[in-house]
Amino acid sequence: MLKKYDFDKMPVVEIVNDILVDASKKGASDIHFDPHEEFMKIRIRIDGALQDYAEIPNAVKKNLVTRVKILAGMNITESRLPQDGAIKQNIQDVSLDLRVSCLPTINGEKIVIRILDYSMSSSGLEALGFSDKNYEKIMKMINMPNGIILVTGATGSGKSTTVYSILQKMNKEDINIITVEDPIEMNIEGVNQVQTNSEIGLTFASALRSILRQDPNVIMVGEIRDTETAKIAVRASITGHIVLSTIHTNNSLNTIERLLDMEVERYLLSSALTGIISQKLARRLCPKCKKKKATNDYEKELFKKVLHQDVNEIWTAEGCEECGNGYSGRIALQEVLLVNQEIKDAISSNMRKEELRHLVYRSDVTTLLQDGLEKVMNGETTFEEVLKLIELDNDDPKENDDNLQSALKFTKIAQESVSDEPTFTEMPKYEEKIEVKEEPVVAKEPELEIKEEPKKTAEEEIHEEPAKEEKIEEEIKTTQVEDDWSMPEVEIKEEPVITKEPELEIKEEPVEEKNDSKKYSYADIDDDEDLMNMEF
Ligand SMILES: [Zn+2]
Repeated sequence: MLKKYDFDKMPVVEIVNDILVDASKKGASDIHFDPHEEFMKIRIRIDGALQDYAEIPNAVKKNLVTRVKILAGMNITESRLPQDGAIKQNIQDVSLDLRVSCLPTINGEKIVIRILDYSMSSSGLEALGFSDKNYEKIMKMINMPNGIILVTGATGSGKSTTVYSILQKMNKEDINIITVEDPIEMNIEGVNQVQTNSEIGLTFASALRSILRQDPNVIMVGEIRDTETAKIAVRASITGHIVLSTIHTNNSLNTIERLLDMEVERYLLSSALTGIISQKLARRLCPKCKKKKATNDYEKELFKKVLHQDVNEIWTAEGCEECGNGYSGRIALQEVLLVNQEIKDAISSNMRKEELRHLVYRSDVTTLLQDGLEKVMNGETTFEEVLKLIELDNDDPKENDDNLQSALKFTKIAQESVSDEPTFTEMPKYEEKIEVKEEPVVAKEPELEIKEEPKKTAEEEIHEEPAKEEKIEEEIKTTQVEDDWSMPEVEIKEEPVITKEPELEIKEEPVEEKNDSKKYSYADIDDDEDLMNMEF
C-alpha cells in the first residue's frame, strides 16, 4: 500500500516532514529516495527488508530533494557530486537524528537517510541477548588489563551496538577512554571521541598514533579496515591498553585469518588477542502470533547433532495484524570466543587452519549455529531464519562435519541459505583471499611460507623465553623504523609496569555494576544499515 500525498495542496516541506516522522514512527532504519525516469520512488527499510512507501511525481521530485538537502545542511547548488549530511531536530514532536547521503545517478540524485534511534537499544550490554555463558566471557574480556577485543559480523549485524554497549560498561571515572570513529554514531558522555577525516589526513592509523600519546586505558577503533590500522591496534593492545574494534568477518576463525592476512605478526596477535564476538541478526518471532509446531525429521536431526537434545516442538511464524509476516524486530545470534592459551599457542605456531578450527570449536565456544538453535528452542526466532543466516559449512561446531553436511543436503533451505549468504559479495577482496587459502589447506597450508621471514627467530625466542613481554617490547622497538611505527617513547616506557597499571583496578570492580550504563544515551548504529531495528 503506497502512501498517497496530495501534491497539489500539500507543501513539499510538509511532505518531507511527514515522510521522516512517519518512517521513524514505523521503526524504519532507512529511507531511500530512488529517482526513476518517470517518478521518484520512496522505500523504507523495516526489520532489514526494503518496502515501497510512496511515489513522487517528477514535477515535485526536484523540490523534494532540495528540501531534504537543505535540512541536511548540504550544498543545494551541487548536484553532481556525492554529499553527506545530517538532520538533527524535532519535527512534529518527534526527535530525529538522521544521517543523510546523496549520490548522483543518471536519473537524478538518490538520497538515503539513515534513522538513528537511540531509544530502541538504551538498555545496555545485558539486553543484547547474550547467553549467560557468553555474557560471562565478555565480562572476563573487558576486565583484563590489556588485549584486543574484536566484534565481527557483516554489514548490518549490529556490531556498533555491541561495541557501544561494551564501552558504556567500561566507562568509569578512573578510566580514560578514547575512540576513533567514522562516523561517530553516538555520543557517550565521558568518552573522548575522535572523528576521522581523511581529507586532512586524519585516518584511523594516524589518529591512533596520537591517541597513544594521550594515556588511554581503553581505545576504541571504529573499524579495522586496513593493514596499518590492524598493526597499530594490535600493537597498542599489548602495551597496556584494551583495544576494542570491529572487523568485517563471519566468525572467530575467519577473524584470526583476516588479521593474519593483514600482515599482523603471528606472535603479536597471539599475545594480543583477548576475545572475538561474532554476531548476526535474525528476525524475531512476533510474540503475538507465533505458533508451536512439531519438528520434522530434519529439524530433529539438526537439533540432536548440534545441541545434543531431542526437540519435538518449536515455534513458527504465523502473521497477524500487528506484524504482517510473523516477525517483528530482530535479535542477535552470537558466538563468543575467549582466547585461551592453547589457541594463542596455535596462532603463534602457525597451526594449520583445520587444526586451529578444531581447537577453536573444541574450546567452550558456543557457535552461531548453536546459539541460533537455542534461540529457536526458546521461541525467539525460527529454524528457517537461523539456517538462512548461518553458513553451515563454516559454523557447524564440534560435530562430525560429514554427517551434518549430508543431513543438510536434505533441505532446500540449507542449500539456498548458502548461496544467499550476502557476506561474500559484500567484501570481495578479503573473501577472495581467504577462499584461495582455504582450498589447499588439506594438502599444505600456504601460510607456512610466511614463516620464512626473518622475524621467525624473534618469534621463537619469545616463545621459548619466559620474558615474553620484554621480548615483544624489544621487537616493537626494533621494528619501529621499518614499520614506520611512530609510537612515542613515553608509551614504550610504560610497558614494564604493565602489572602495576591502573587497569588492574578494573578487575577489582564488581561485575554487578551493570546499570550505571543506562544513564548514557545509547545508540546502536553501525556504518551498517538497519541496526536501529535491532530489538534486544
Ligand atoms: Zn504477529
